[in-house]
Amino acid sequence: MKILISDPITNKGLSILKDSNFDLIELPNASNKEKAEACKDVKGWVIRSGTTVTAEMIESAKKLIVIGRAGVGVDNIDVEAATRHGVVVMNTPDVNTISAAEHTVAIILSLSRNIAEGNSSLKKGEWNRNALVGSELRNKTLGIIGLGKIGQEVLIRCRAFGMNVLGYDPYMNKDKFNPEEIKIVDLDNLTKNADYITVHVPLNDSTRDLFNYEQLIKMKLNARIVNVARGGIINEVDLAKVLNEGKIAGAAIDVFTSEPLEDKNPLLKANNILLTPHLGASTEEAKEGVSLAICEQIRDYIIDEKLNNAINMPISDMAKLKEIKFNLNLSELMGNIQGQLNQESIKRVQVECSGTMDEAKLAALAFLKGLLKNRVPDRVNYINAESIAIELGISIEHSFTNDSGSYTNLIRSRVSNELGATRIGGSVFDGNRIRLVNILGYEMEVNPYGTMLFMRNNDVPGVIGSVGYTLGKAKINIGAYLLSREMKEGEAFSVVRVDSRLSDKVLDDLRSIPQIISVQQLHC
Ligand code: NAD
Repeated sequence: MKILISDPITNKGLSILKDSNFDLIELPNASNKEKAEACKDVKGWVIRSGTTVTAEMIESAKKLIVIGRAGVGVDNIDVEAATRHGVVVMNTPDVNTISAAEHTVAIILSLSRNIAEGNSSLKKGEWNRNALVGSELRNKTLGIIGLGKIGQEVLIRCRAFGMNVLGYDPYMNKDKFNPEEIKIVDLDNLTKNADYITVHVPLNDSTRDLFNYEQLIKMKLNARIVNVARGGIINEVDLAKVLNEGKIAGAAIDVFTSEPLEDKNPLLKANNILLTPHLGASTEEAKEGVSLAICEQIRDYIIDEKLNNAINMPISDMAKLKEIKFNLNLSELMGNIQGQLNQESIKRVQVECSGTMDEAKLAALAFLKGLLKNRVPDRVNYINAESIAIELGISIEHSFTNDSGSYTNLIRSRVSNELGATRIGGSVFDGNRIRLVNILGYEMEVNPYGTMLFMRNNDVPGVIGSVGYTLGKAKINIGAYLLSREMKEGEAFSVVRVDSRLSDKVLDDLRSIPQIISVQQLHC
């Protein structure tokens, strides 16, 4: 069986494939044309970032069943075309975890003992011991924001230094953690009490500028902050400002909003800052690790059909996939909405399909993919959605029933957290029109797209006018206003589609309308 290697892969990686008697076609320096020719006859294809796999190549590679990317980004592969042709696309997202955790600890230590300062002042001919007095980590408090793979490894390492640890991750089930090792608190508690703060979250709408000026100045005067996650989680302008104003003691930053770092970046001139050029995953081990991991994954898939880190959904019956594509899109969208409605840690997810939509397992995976999209965006896909949900402490149930009421197909979802449960139901009309048909118990037909407001209000005259006035004053155009008042006497529920996102101020203005009970803004 032939495998094409069209980018540099380490010898140890290649020997995994050779030992399994694969016939390797090694073309790491070939032209696109040569690669396009070579892929026609292979079963597996291993690449890094140097090969672009196009739809035409996939189309012509009739024997191809798997493409493996040594690394994380798959933007150089036409994943949609691969999925259409039943070709699995894999990457290696977990290999960097230890390198990133160790780099975090390295810069925390370096900050607290002025190692970079000491090195550069010594090389300038200074012997300035008094100005470089550091502080011990022992008995200090570390705040970890984001308790995923890297956050948990940082926890283990910093506990070994005798640190007390606070953790914040609204999506993680706190029962997963030993209270003697880490105290789970809210963001403000962590910010105000930690001597060191380290962020290990993805960059998304909820984490962009998580530490802006307002949040940074809540830190202790002698506290330090570290970012080995993604540029933009700590606002760079605001961080430079608090450092220069002496409002916090220091910062160490590995990742930037624009990389390579631009000369005008304010962090370059900030006081008490340690900068590294995105070195979190730059270790020999991580580089070797991606080669080893991808070769193992390719071998395991071709020989044993074992799927690991597959980022698309391989379904052998492509006709079936086509048939339920809109139901899966609906389910993913419902998951996305439920994820936004349930900002706390989720305990249980139930997905029930009925009528012509009989692929409950796939619907549940699509739902989880949408639900987890904003929490773990770098790694969630159809294949791993369930295991990530389990990692987050979420229990999952899916079922099929014949009872679809008056709909030909129906997906019902129920998401439970410590406070209660939220229900959303949806159906696909005429084969391709996605509609929500039940929102939080209210029967209504909503075409879910763009920015929507879910509002509960006392059912008295004048509410629509007040809402319209408040939005109009803020120059927000209303696209649709749908009202339901069936569920609870005296209460109405509405979905308002607006043309642009509301600021926190406008949301607060809506919430201060006396008849309004609650307002939630959602984006589809
Ligand atoms: P992960 O998906 O395992 O964990 C992320 C955690 O963040 C999850 O537990 C999630 O629940 C939590 N989270 C999401 N939104 C949150 C919020 N608003 N507040 C608090 N917690 C939130 O990811 P990981 O592998 O641990 O990676 C963490 C980050 O490190 C990612 O941004 C990744 O891209 C980055 N990273 C950087 C380097 C580097 O070279 N510097 C290397 C590897 C990873």
